[in-house]
Formats: sequence, structure tokens, C-alpha cells
Amino acid sequence: MSELALLAEKLDAADELADKRADFVLDEVVYLDGNSLGALPANVPGRVADVVHRQWGELRIRSWDESGWWTAPERIGDRIAPLVGAAVGQIVVGDSTSVNVFKALVAAVRLAGDGRDEILVDATTFPTDGYIAESAARMTGRTLRPVRPEEVPGALSERTAAVLLNHVDYRTGRLHDLPSLTAAVHEAGAVAVWDLCHSAGALPVGLDEHGVDLAVGCTYKYLNGGPGSPAYLYVRQGLQDRFDSPLPGWTSHAEPFGMHTTYTPASGAPRGRVGTPDILSMLALEAALEVWDDVTVDAVRTKSLALTDFFLRAVSEYTPAGRVESLTPTRHEHRGSQVALRCDDAGEVMKRLIERGVVGDFRHPDVLRFGFTPLYVGFGDVERAARVLGEELAAT
Ligand SMILES: *Cc1c(COP(=O)(O)O)cnc(C)c1O
Repeated sequence: MSELALLAEKLDAADELADKRADFVLDEVVYLDGNSLGALPANVPGRVADVVHRQWGELRIRSWDESGWWTAPERIGDRIAPLVGAAVGQIVVGDSTSVNVFKALVAAVRLAGDGRDEILVDATTFPTDGYIAESAARMTGRTLRPVRPEEVPGALSERTAAVLLNHVDYRTGRLHDLPSLTAAVHEAGAVAVWDLCHSAGALPVGLDEHGVDLAVGCTYKYLNGGPGSPAYLYVRQGLQDRFDSPLPGWTSHAEPFGMHTTYTPASGAPRGRVGTPDILSMLALEAALEVWDDVTVDAVRTKSLALTDFFLRAVSEYTPAGRVESLTPTRHEHRGSQVALRCDDAGEVMKRLIERGVVGDFRHPDVLRFGFTPLYVGFGDVERAARVLGEELAAT
């Protein structure tokens, strides 16, 4: 056995989260794509069967009340809250991340007021945020300026209405400094909107502690909610009364069943709702979140950094020098929970890795991306992935 394989055994034996693997449906594949679609928690199929057969099949309309369907968006939001450092009553679940980016950004511009005519958007953002920001700017008559996150402090001015940033860069895995960037945005009198898609469930976020105004995130990556599971919207408590949604659907009305012709917004997190919630996906997510019951985000972060450190070390030992270039920040405070490696034939290499049971993903044009989900990835998996990668890179 190689030195690294022995080390992996030791690290797995000392891993406090190792038992969590039993909460997931896993096989012999090394799954390093949980940052795109989290693995299936073992309790989800049974829960979904109950929701379909009993709650829908037998109780039918009664389930909106008796099975807690109507209040699911706020209830599940409260379940996500501790994972992102938020007190209860500030998160609502529903719609996609893209839709929530729209709600949050337009609401942020409205909060900032008429005097401010510019929106800053993360120039390295996942594309959907950029597209939606462009439309939001056009609709609200503001100018959109793409800025790299580290250049935001210098770009802020009394013109800035809102700033939309990704907490972790989806390509490189770079973690941006949420506390200091949020403070800089506030210093300029603007509103901070964060996209947590690649951080929630992987590392501490501290929304309340750092005074974030609005945040959105998806639940099918590190939160394992399933394909297309609904996203969430955080509105800081102190802003909720002034949160003016651009999508004021009937389920966000103060009296949804009053069927009024004029709109009066609900108070609190439900103000972020739009239409009828997608109950099947939402209740699958609720079951998936139970795996977090006895887990702290700090323990997840500690293991995540150990996994990415170990992978980077194993890649450098197993891979011919210069064959790949790591885009992943070496400093822990700049690193999310993934490793990105650049090489010209990344698309071909990833195809061969997947054929050999190591699943990561390929990001156009030349990036190999490996996500590390501490609840179900172990150090032995990491050693095997790096070894197979090294073999494939040496072969071509
Ligand atoms: C995955 C991801 C999204 C996805 O948006 P959807 O509306 O769920 O498709 C948005 N933003 C970021 C930063 C992401 O990583």
C-alpha cells in the first residue's frame, strides 16, 4: 500500500463525520460532484413515498393544513437557518435560485432608494446571476457594472444601490470575504446581496453576525435536496418591513385566502413567497435536511479543508509535474469546498475519470472540478480519485 493510501486509512479512522456516510445512498463510485447535485439521503425515498401515497393520495386537499404543506416554505427555511448562521424567521424556501436572485436584487434596489443609480455585480459570477442582474438593472433604470469581488471596495460610491456577489466562485472554488465586503457595501450606504449556492452546507456563512441584507442559495448542491429542489431567500429581520417584492404573488399576501383585489404584503419571511409551493420537491428537501440534525457546520468545514488539502497533496504526488495547474487558492481563508484543476484536455480527461468510477465535472473550456462533500466523502475516496486522475493524466 502506498504511503498516501495508509495516511488515508488513518484519516478515515479519525474522522468524526465518518458515520454520516450511512445516512446516504452510496455505491463504489467516488462521487466528487456533490457541489452540482448532492447525493441521495437514505431517508428521502420513504418520505417522498409517504407524501405521495398518504398525504396526496389519501388526505388530498386536507394535507395543505393537516400535513403542514402550507407552512412548509417557512418551516424548512427555519431548518436551513442555522446552517447559514441565521436566526429563525428570516428564510423562506421556494422557487429557483435564479428567481430568488431577481426578487432579492430588485428589492435591494428599491430599499436603496431613488438617489442611487448603479448596481454592482460579481464579474466572475455564475452566469444566471449576471443575466438576471442585467434585466433587473434595465427594469429599474439602473446601470449595471460588473466588478471582480476583490475590487468591489474601490468601486463603491454614493451612486451604488446594491451589490450582488457569489460567496464562493463556482469555477475556481475561491471563497470571498463576506464579512469585509458586506461591511464595505454598508459603509457606502448600499445593500448587500449574497449568493450562497456553493457555501451553504460546506462552510460557515454567518449571515446574521455579518449583517448581510439579503441572500439566496440553492438546496440541491451541498444540502442534498434533490434535482431542482427549491431555493431559499434570506431577508434580514430589520429589513423585512421594507422588503418590496417584485413578484408579489398571492401566497405572500397578508391574507392569502381573503382573495382581495389589492395587495397587502405578509409580514416576516413569508413576504418572500410567490405562488403555490412545489410540495413534492420541498418535502423531499425537508427530509434531506434531517442529516444535519447532529452535525455542526464547523465540523464540516474542518473536514472539508482536510479533504481538499489531502487531494491537492495527492494530486501533486501522483501527477506528472506541470500536467495540471491548480486554480484553487492555497490559503484556507480563500478556499471553498472544491478543487479546480486546469488542463487543455480537461473534457477528455473527465470522461475517462467517469468511466473509471471517479465522478467530478468539467467546466468549459479547460477546468476539471472536484467537489468535496464532508458528510459522505472520505479520505480513501480522495486518495483513489487522485490516483486514477494521475494515471489518466500520465497516459496521455
Ligand atoms: C448553481 C448556482 C445557481 C443555480 O441557479 P438555478 O436557478 O438553481 O438554476 C445560481 N447561482 C450560483 C452561484 C450557482 O452556483
